[in-house]
Amino acid sequence: MNTTHEDDSHQHPNYYRLFEGIRGFKSNEHIPKQEFFAQLGKHQNPHTLYIGCSDSRVVPNLVTGTIPGELFVVRNIGNFVPLYDRSSETFVATSAVIEYAVKQLQVDNIVVCGHSNCGGCAALYNSAKEMRSLPHTKKWLELAAPVKKIVEEQIANNIISIEERSVFTEQMNVVVQIEHLMQYPYIRKAVKQGDITIMGWWYHIEEGEIYDYDFNIKRFIKVV
Ligand SMILES: [Zn+2]
Repeated sequence: MNTTHEDDSHQHPNYYRLFEGIRGFKSNEHIPKQEFFAQLGKHQNPHTLYIGCSDSRVVPNLVTGTIPGELFVVRNIGNFVPLYDRSSETFVATSAVIEYAVKQLQVDNIVVCGHSNCGGCAALYNSAKEMRSLPHTKKWLELAAPVKKIVEEQIANNIISIEERSVFTEQMNVVVQIEHLMQYPYIRKAVKQGDITIMGWWYHIEEGEIYDYDFNIKRFIKVV
């Protein structure tokens, strides 16, 4: 490993791209805003917990126009929320972020954001054989088993078509993960007291639009 990151011809070109990016950030973003970063370095006070998909195309700060310090973020495959179980030792990475954001940082909002063409949601319909080489992903996808069940029932009853399956799965997944969130006693309490607002979003990558779930009419409405 060299220290200059310049002359190691064995690296993939993307390797250099990352180091150019670091230098670009320093000169183009950090230096012009040194005072902001000096303040930011002292503490964090994010107003929103953002639970999103790990998908590289969905960038939380970019799509919400927010700056460092505003969003406390957890991203995982499929933007899932583990079921609340105080004694459980599974899926704690995501549960710990939720706990810390709500109890320690006392965020005002929680967003669960799904998106178009989500590989995690699509993988719910993969065969056991297709998932054989992805044992941890397979385990993780268990958190969306209720979503798959709902969607398959809707297709069987001709309520939605097979062509609508992807979008319906992605949107229903957001709704189900919010239901999981509401099982957390401290979240249920905070919502009841009006201390936390929960939002469900679905981001359409090509359109650059966010659709916000309306809990009254149970539909996703484009944010305009
Ligand atoms: Zn995704």
